[in-house]
Amino acid sequence: MPGMDATNPRTIPALHRLLDQPEAWALCAQHPRAAVAAALRAHLTALRGQGAPFIAEHAFAAAAAALAAAARPGLRRVINATGVVLHTNLGRAPLPQAARDAVAAEAAGYCNLELDLETGRRGHRHAACSALLSELTGAEAALVVNNGAAAMLLALSALAAGGEAVVSRGELVEIGGGFRIPDVIRQGGARLAEVGATNRTRLADYAAAIGPETRLLLRVHQSNFSQIGFTAIVEPRALVALARDRGLLSVVDLGSGALVDLSGYGLPAEPTMGQAVAQGFDLVVASGDKLLGGPQAGLLLGRAAVVARLAGHPLMRALRCDKLTLAALEATLRLYRDPSGLRQAVPTLDMLAATAAEIGARAVRLLALLPEGMAEIVPGKSLVGGGSLPATELPTCLLALHGPAEALAKRLRLGRPAVMARIAGGRLLLDLRTVAEAELPDLAGALRDAA
Ligand SMILES: *Cc1c(COP(=O)(O)O)cnc(C)c1O
Repeated sequence: MPGMDATNPRTIPALHRLLDQPEAWALCAQHPRAAVAAALRAHLTALRGQGAPFIAEHAFAAAAAALAAAARPGLRRVINATGVVLHTNLGRAPLPQAARDAVAAEAAGYCNLELDLETGRRGHRHAACSALLSELTGAEAALVVNNGAAAMLLALSALAAGGEAVVSRGELVEIGGGFRIPDVIRQGGARLAEVGATNRTRLADYAAAIGPETRLLLRVHQSNFSQIGFTAIVEPRALVALARDRGLLSVVDLGSGALVDLSGYGLPAEPTMGQAVAQGFDLVVASGDKLLGGPQAGLLLGRAAVVARLAGHPLMRALRCDKLTLAALEATLRLYRDPSGLRQAVPTLDMLAATAAEIGARAVRLLALLPEGMAEIVPGKSLVGGGSLPATELPTCLLALHGPAEALAKRLRLGRPAVMARIAGGRLLLDLRTVAEAELPDLAGALRDAA
């Protein structure tokens, strides 16, 4: 730049002079002028702060890099090589292809969200999902809201506000992100009546706690922790019978919301929504994006009269789902009508069911795409995550990368696509349980870039 002494820190140019340079015009052709000005100003401010010399070439390069970074989407694809199937920080369940197709179709135009095409009159946005949930669980009726927490808030507000909800002390759990059962009960306008001890609660404890203010007995599935040793919980059917006997409602928060028995996939049995309905609970609450493997959603199913009270509550409007969620959920639920093709169709189930041998074969295919001596295959364990099956460790095969683990992990996180791995014993480990076959070339590219 003529007339600018690059080596003298006192002669840092004025911003407007920089913006007059052809390099700045080139940046302005790609980015808003205000953003270019802000990026250059930030560079100049940094130079002044450091007492560093001004070098025009560096200034434009720094601005170009900052502008390019800002232009990238904040929310972007991450290859999940942690092996944690339901990773809350990575968006929990990846959607089945059928759900992705349904979302794309509904997003592109209009749909009959609240229109009954048969009569031409107003319809219910939940109609399709409700019918499928009823069919798949045996519930009389069902409703869908934004997530499991919203479902709990709605249930307590509609069924227990002004009264008491009785819960075992062993079930006053924190789900994560500060979401605690006692707080939701309070937020729903109800009072919590705690019964039993942390490790043991008996039917007599519930019976003794019931008073004139009691509205419901609440069972919360210990989805994200497990108790071993001297423990006792009340059989679901006994709890339901006690509630019915005393003219109260019985509600169960299942958390994970499995629709099929996971023991068929070599996993521990997890109570399914259908089982909870069969046990007689008046209302069953679960999430759509945990073991069900669908979109983020809160599922409420049970007796028609109870579900109708929820549907008519003013909070329903604030908690309702949009058309994209409902499209994805309906398509996911539809897959459960054909149990034979389920594992292949629902990525969450496919990843949970994958054996160490299958994952090992995938690791061998990835290794073949990498330069010699970059990594080795070692045995290990994966976790389910998302507050589901906490005590379950799934045998897996890991790719252990040679090199400084922390530095590699950071470069992988900032790469394109971003890759999340895990570090153990000072080594960077990739668990391919959660990496789709189609992602292997991209993952290999990201690993080569980071190394
Ligand atoms: C996960 C979970 C919730 C909350 O569901 P979100 O869909 O995450 O809002 C509530 N209760 C239990 C028992 C859970 O495991």
